[in-house]
Amino acid sequence: MEREAEFITEPQKKIPVVAEADICVIGGSCTGVFAAVRAARLGASVIVIEREGCLGGTATSGLVNCWHTLNDTSGEKQIIAGLTEEILSRVEPAETRGKNHADSHFFNPHELKTELDMLCAENGVRVMLHTLYCSCMEENGSVRYIIIENKDGRGAVRASFFIDASGDGDICRDLGIEKFYNQTIQPPSACFLLEGDVSHVDVTRLIRHHGDEFGLEKDWGWFCRVPDASNITMRADTHVLGLIPDKAEDLTKAEIEGRRKMRAVIRMLNRYGAEGVRYANVSSCSSIGIRETAHYVTAKKADQFELLLGKRYDDCVMNGTYNVDVHLPDGSITFHHFDGSFNTELADGGRVTGSWRRELGIDESLPIPTYYSLPFSCLVPVRHDNLIAVGRMINADIFSFGALRVMVNLNQLGEAAGVAAYLSISSGVSVRSLDGRSVAKKLSEGGSANLA
Ligand SMILES: Cc1cc2nc3c(=O)[nH]c(=O)nc-3n(C[C@H](O)[C@H](O)[C@H](O)COP(=O)(O)OP(=O)(O)OC[C@H]3O[C@@H](n4cnc5c(N)ncnc54)[C@H](O)[C@@H]3O)c2cc1C
Repeated sequence: MEREAEFITEPQKKIPVVAEADICVIGGSCTGVFAAVRAARLGASVIVIEREGCLGGTATSGLVNCWHTLNDTSGEKQIIAGLTEEILSRVEPAETRGKNHADSHFFNPHELKTELDMLCAENGVRVMLHTLYCSCMEENGSVRYIIIENKDGRGAVRASFFIDASGDGDICRDLGIEKFYNQTIQPPSACFLLEGDVSHVDVTRLIRHHGDEFGLEKDWGWFCRVPDASNITMRADTHVLGLIPDKAEDLTKAEIEGRRKMRAVIRMLNRYGAEGVRYANVSSCSSIGIRETAHYVTAKKADQFELLLGKRYDDCVMNGTYNVDVHLPDGSITFHHFDGSFNTELADGGRVTGSWRRELGIDESLPIPTYYSLPFSCLVPVRHDNLIAVGRMINADIFSFGALRVMVNLNQLGEAAGVAAYLSISSGVSVRSLDGRSVAKKLSEGGSANLA
């Protein structure tokens, strides 16, 4: 029988204001760090609050070490620059494939951690690690304080502007901002670094044939090289299905099931992998990689048609090329491409192809763009004056989210959030009244590519 919720009243207590800045960023993935650094370079004082012991989010704690191309699909025009390009030039070694290859840049996630530490230090950004955002205090449409907890206990942080880069949108949740879950929530994956030569082993195929023996369902997985680490690959072979990982209980189950699956893959490889090779997991993700949870409503919702038909905007703050890539709840994956085609790779090894343009009744003779863009209005809050939520909680439909969610895109949106926060406080104007074109202009001046 389900028990009725029981409530207690927390005794009132004084909380010290432990930090103060112009801008407080919650969440220290590249989205959050790039927001912080862009604002700091314009002269703002900035604090980043991060619950893990390192910066980088999914790229470091989740071990996802692949960023996509900075060029359009022709490979001739650079459409992404800014801090994405800067950090790639600093992380050594970062391996780069051809100029227009989708999976363009690979790096060692452990290197990225240190580089982000250094980037923050050089730009005077204060970082608080092992510090959890717990709640916030709002007054007349503005966030005044957030409450944090760390080894010093409970404290408050005061700022003029807050950027929610927590992935799940924890501040948005607490402010009661309208949210929605897409019909299909892309499932999480626990990634790990595998030692042992798999160059002649098709792990996805092995899972299809022998997975049952190890408690692994049929799945569609992928992997990535780790530069300079010979014999080591980053593995994302499995998904954890059927959970919503911004629910505390589901998140716990996802971590435990993800760990079980990583071990099952190793055991399977040691039985059926290359002969004479011993396989080992030499580094598990410290947090399971979460692809999708809630999305929060903003002034404009990103739309798959505008995206894949390459609509241009005056207030453009992001360019990208990564195709729509939706991991489905049954372990299959579907890709929609600019040229109008789609392919769905089924978990059982089957494949379905076709034309999404035709199926959706879109004129197939419309020109095929070489990149897409996103307007600032997708980041503008509906009700709040000093808050931007940026990251995978973006207001986007299933398919546009499938494209926007990759890091080269979210990195740019982080930069846009940092610039907008600076412009809002320096001009004393609510973020809702900012002219998006001025945000785009400032972004370009700070090194972002071809935004106007
Ligand atoms: C398995 C997997 C493979 C992927 N593959 C690719 C790929 O190859 N290339 C690509 O570009 N993208 C890939 N993606 C997508 C991409 O990695 C994510 O969409 C992106 O990293 C999300 O970034 P984010 O900043 O929104 O969130 P996150 O990376 O989740 O960062 C959120 C940050 O906020 C912190 N945080 C959260 N809550 C709190 C709190 N209450 N207090 C303090 N800190 C908090 C977290 O610790 C974290 O550091 C993949 C995703 C997954 C899961």
